[in-house]
Amino acid sequence: MARYTGAVCRLCRREGTKLFLKGTKCTSDRCPIEKRNFPPGQHGKDRKAKIVGYGLQLHEKQKAKRMYFTLEGQFREYYEKANRAQGVTGELLIQQLERRLDNVAYRLGFAISRRQARQVVRHGHVSVNGKKVNIPSYQVNAGDEISIREHAKKLVVVEQGVQFAQQNPVPTWLEMNFETLTGRVLHLPKRADVNLPINEQLIVELYSK
Ligand code: SF4
Repeated sequence: MARYTGAVCRLCRREGTKLFLKGTKCTSDRCPIEKRNFPPGQHGKDRKAKIVGYGLQLHEKQKAKRMYFTLEGQFREYYEKANRAQGVTGELLIQQLERRLDNVAYRLGFAISRRQARQVVRHGHVSVNGKKVNIPSYQVNAGDEISIREHAKKLVVVEQGVQFAQQNPVPTWLEMNFETLTGRVLHLPKRADVNLPINEQLIVELYSK
């Protein structure tokens, strides 16, 4: 499947906000947003256009899509599914993004960024209810047990992630046992459970045109 392989810090600079794609660098003063908070490119510094209306909606969608490291087609599918289901479309959209296995692996501390978590899953280091699952977009369910497989517990990326997660609280819809490196989905995430700087209503308005 196609994926973005360029410099990820450019994506943050494009959105003008931290998308937390690089782990510890994102919370340090080495983060490019701290020094160069303007769009990338030769004329990035000179562009001062005020974003309103459609631009604002597009901006919000791009931000969410890049934050969860999904591609346009898949993101749109999440919207279509949320739109067909009963409930608040924006909240259901966020719920599906949060339920992705790579996101859950990141939230539980199996890696220090969603991007790394995606790789940890892709390489077959994560199991769901005791079975290896290597599909980053796999949707977890309430009651699922997510763990890092035995052979991967000593991976540097996992150790860094665990350290990071121990300093940052695991979301309330998840539970993590740092001794066994096993997490559990207590319930499906509601909007209030997810600390996310995204206005999902703008994304819904964009797609429902
Ligand atoms: Fe974004 Fe992290 Fe790069 Fe900062 S260090 S620009 S937050 S990916």
